[in-house]
Amino acid sequence: MSAGELEGKVALVTGGSRGIGLAIAESLAAGGARIAVIGRDGERAKAAAAKLTGSGHCGFSCDVADSEQVKEVLALVESEVGPVDILVNNAGITRDNILLRMKDEEFDEVIAANLKGAFNFTRAAARGMMKRRDGVILNITSVVGLIGNAGQANYAASKAGMIGMTKSVAKELASRGVRCNALAPGFIRTDMTHDLTDAQVEALQGQIPLGRLGETDDIGGVARFLVGPSARYITGQVLAVDGGMVM
Ligand code: NAP
Repeated sequence: MSAGELEGKVALVTGGSRGIGLAIAESLAAGGARIAVIGRDGERAKAAAAKLTGSGHCGFSCDVADSEQVKEVLALVESEVGPVDILVNNAGITRDNILLRMKDEEFDEVIAANLKGAFNFTRAAARGMMKRRDGVILNITSVVGLIGNAGQANYAASKAGMIGMTKSVAKELASRGVRCNALAPGFIRTDMTHDLTDAQVEALQGQIPLGRLGETDDIGGVARFLVGPSARYITGQVLAVDGGMVM
């Protein structure tokens, strides 16, 4: 990867204000892209954008689950930062519970944020990408969407759904010059995994051939590769970045 390979590109990263999304935003900014950081907390999104490498980045408040907000914010991004060349659907939540105790709201909220949110931004951004016959979409799914996880029926369903959507969008938009892939992180140290107990971390590490949980920087560079010119012949793929946990 060369330093300025994303020069002149605009990348929109949902959930780019912390965790994995922030690492992806920083990696794409270091590659020369201008970044639109999206999060429900607009102040945090703006503060994150201000600290990225380079200039021209902006932060915006938006709930990805709300399709009207998504349309409005995309229009704002296009006027303030520029037409979106790269879309990273990274925003996500968990509401874990065992199946028999899982409430309707816990199921619906996770599907709305993780799966519908990715759909909302993909549909909104795809129009411009297709017109320009150029664009890249990267969906941040999870190894849990591939192998399931006890206590995460809602989350696993949302992440498996993203994989089906990735492949469908890849097939539908390939002839218009738009690529779409999924990146499936394993267990990465962020706010989302902060509550894991030492015993849980130890048990997980035993299932990871590389012997450790991932750091957000383990994801940023791979995301940059997948949205960049070196991956121009890759579409419809799911790449696990998980220390070898799922193979
Ligand atoms: P995180 O630290 O909890 O950060 C989540 C980000 O998403 C925040 O920026 C948050 O900002 C934003 N967000 C959440 N709901 C949103 C909504 N409805 N609308 C807009 N923004 C929203 O999570 P993370 O661990 O970095 O995870 C990032 C992605 O990677 C998620 O899709 C997650 O499922 C996936 N993933 C994580 C792991 C892991 O081990 N950490 C593993 C596999 C996959 P606001 O709170 O301001 O909205």
